[in-house]
Amino acid sequence: MTKIALVTGGGRGIGRAVALLLARHDYDVCVNYLSNDVAAEQVKLEIEALGQRCMLYKADVSDEQQVVAMFNSIDEHLGKLSALVNNAALMLPQLTIESVNQERLTQMFSSNVNSYFLCAREAVLRMAFKHGGEGGAIVNVSSLAALTGSPNEYLDYAATKGAIDTLTTGLAREMSREGVRVNGVRPGLIYTDMHADGGEAGRVDRVKENLPLGRGGTPEEVAEAIYFLLSEKSAFSTGDSINVSGGLN
Ligand code: NAP
Repeated sequence: MTKIALVTGGGRGIGRAVALLLARHDYDVCVNYLSNDVAAEQVKLEIEALGQRCMLYKADVSDEQQVVAMFNSIDEHLGKLSALVNNAALMLPQLTIESVNQERLTQMFSSNVNSYFLCAREAVLRMAFKHGGEGGAIVNVSSLAALTGSPNEYLDYAATKGAIDTLTTGLAREMSREGVRVNGVRPGLIYTDMHADGGEAGRVDRVKENLPLGRGGTPEEVAEAIYFLLSEKSAFSTGDSINVSGGLN
């Protein structure tokens, strides 16, 4: 039977690679994105060329009303959701603690943490046995920065990912008898547009020699770990996280 997945931030980067990999594994996919219509339309074309249904949904996942409307639309147009990939997040230009301010923290935590909680809530309301659901799987895309703290660069971003690791641990336990597995993936340095948003487009190449494997990773390599954690091949895993970080840990 075809499964139905939502990938937040599925228009570009890691989310795009996940959406395409899921389609290759017979999922119909809702691709959420924020503003880049052209990139999202391209993903839709590629998913449909694989013979799967694709629904695009432009919404800011840090906004509760938009999140609720998106899940209701999935119910209506695709059917019963069985997989959520909480992936959409942002990184802002490098700073140290002296430059942190309320506005930036609110934006960062709203985009990277509130959004994961809101989407997880809506997914649980559809998947958990106690709500009449048939189970499912959630993967939270965290970051290796949750473990390193990303000093002198992205301390605030790293802290949002620490919060996501805690969400993975706690929600997995809340859902352990409800048929919903919750796991995480911590990518390391991956070639995507996010580094330009973080103020340094060439960052992966600048620091890749510090990684044991000596290279940056691809979105496709991260997508494989996410797919594994959504699939029945990881049926005995919940509350776990996989680093996809070239040996840095
Ligand atoms: P990316 O290339 O910058 O793509 C981000 C995607 O998220 C885009 O599709 C964007 O939409 C969407 N998005 C951003 N904010 C959103 C919001 N509020 N609501 C809805 N959609 C939103 O990012 P990426 O590098 O693939 O990162 C994906 C995940 O991996 C993130 O959680 C990130 O923290 C994590 N990660 C990345 C790296 C890395 O090296 N790249 C390392 C560790 C962890 P538009 O296309 O419309 O702009």
